[in-house]
Amino acid sequence: MQRWFFGLVFLVFPGCAATAPAEAGPKTSGRAPILVQPVQATAPKAAPSPAPVATNEPAADPDAEDEEGPDDDEAEAAEEGAEAEATPAAPPPAPKPPSPLLALSVTQLEARYRSDPASVGPLSLGATNAGALVNGVQMPKSEKWLVADPSCAWGTQETVDAIARSIEKVATEHPGAPPLAIGHISSKKGGHLSPHRSHQSGRDVDLGYYHSPPKTHFVRATEANLDLERTFALVKTIVSDTDVELVLIDTAVQRMLVAHALRKGEDEAWLDQVFQVRGKHPRPVVRHARGHGNHLHVRFVSPVAQELGRRAGAFLRREKVAPPHVADSVVMHKARSGDTLQILARRYGTTVEAIQGANGLKTIDIKMGRTYRIPVPKPPAPPKAPAVPKRRAAPPPRTTAGATRGPMHGR
Ligand SMILES: [Zn+2]
Repeated sequence: MQRWFFGLVFLVFPGCAATAPAEAGPKTSGRAPILVQPVQATAPKAAPSPAPVATNEPAADPDAEDEEGPDDDEAEAAEEGAEAEATPAAPPPAPKPPSPLLALSVTQLEARYRSDPASVGPLSLGATNAGALVNGVQMPKSEKWLVADPSCAWGTQETVDAIARSIEKVATEHPGAPPLAIGHISSKKGGHLSPHRSHQSGRDVDLGYYHSPPKTHFVRATEANLDLERTFALVKTIVSDTDVELVLIDTAVQRMLVAHALRKGEDEAWLDQVFQVRGKHPRPVVRHARGHGNHLHVRFVSPVAQELGRRAGAFLRREKVAPPHVADSVVMHKARSGDTLQILARRYGTTVEAIQGANGLKTIDIKMGRTYRIPVPKPPAPPKAPAVPKRRAAPPPRTTAGATRGPMHGR
C-alpha cells in the first residue's frame, strides 16, 4: 500500500472543463429513435412571467476553451467529503420507471447480451471520469434545442430523456423560448472526451444558458444577456424533476439566478438547499466550478443504466467490450523524472492501455510535470445499487396568481 504515496497523488472527482460549441448548427447524422417520456412534474409551478428583454449583445463570445481547472476538482472533492454524512437520509421514495431488465441476474444479463447486445439497453460503466457507455442513445433533434456536435451527444436513455423533458418543460411554460444550445454529453462509446475530465459514461451534459437575444452557442452570461426567467426555470426543473447528482454554475450566474428567484418569491429554504451561493447548505446541488460562466454542467444519475452497467461490468471487461480504463475511481499522478507508463501501471495495479485510454494518449510518451489520470481498479464491491439523490422539489413561490399550465408538449 505504501506505493500509493509515491509521487504527487490525490484522488480527483472531476467536473467538466468548459466546452464551447463553436457554432451550434446541428449536423445531420444517423440517430437512434428516442422515447421522450412525459414530464414528471414534482415541482409546483411558479407563475409564469414574461421573459426579460435584454438589450446588450456582447461583441463576441469571450469564452474560449477553458483549461481543465482545479476548481472542478474542489467542487467534487467537497462533495465527496460530505458524502458520508449526507447519505444517511432514507432512500428516495420517488417512483422510478421500472425496467424489466433489472430483474435479470448477472448470468441472465450476460446471456441476453451475447444473443442480442442491443437488447440490454444503455449501460453506464465506471465513474464519470473513468467510464464508458454501451448502447448509448443519441440526443434527438428538436426545434427546442441545438446539438452542437451530435457525435458527442450520446448518453443513457435516462440522461437523454431528462435533458429533453427539462427543455420541453421550459419551452411549454415559457412559450417562445429559443432553442437551447446543447454541448457535449458523451461520445458514442463514452470514455475520454476532450477537453473534459468527465463526460465519460453518458451522464454528464453541458447546456447553454438562455439568452435574450437568443444565442446558438455558449456565451458568457451577463446581466445584460441572461434570460433569467427561462434559465432559472431550467435549473429549477432539472433540480426538481430529474435525478441529478450535481449542477455546475459559475458563482456570478448563481447570484443572478438567486436574486431573480427571490424577486419572484421562490421559497428561500429551497434556494438555501440548492444554491451554493446562499452559503447555507454543506452540500448544495448547484455548485461553482471554473469555466461555467457560459454554460452549465449537469451530472445526472441513471439508476437503470448504472445498475445494469455494474452488473454487466465484469463480463464486458472480460470480453473487452468495455475499454480497459473503465474504473470506479481515478488517481491523479504528476509525472516525475523516470516515470514511464509501464512503471505507473505497475505501481497502481493497472495497465498501460488503461492509462492511455484514460488520458486519450495515442503513444507511450509522457511528459514530465504533467498530471495524468490513473484509473484505479477496486476490489469487487458488494452489490450496491447506485444511490439516487433525493429530489429537491421546489415549493410554490409566494405569489402564484394567474398561474396557468399548458399541456406538456408531446412527441
Ligand atoms: Zn461539462
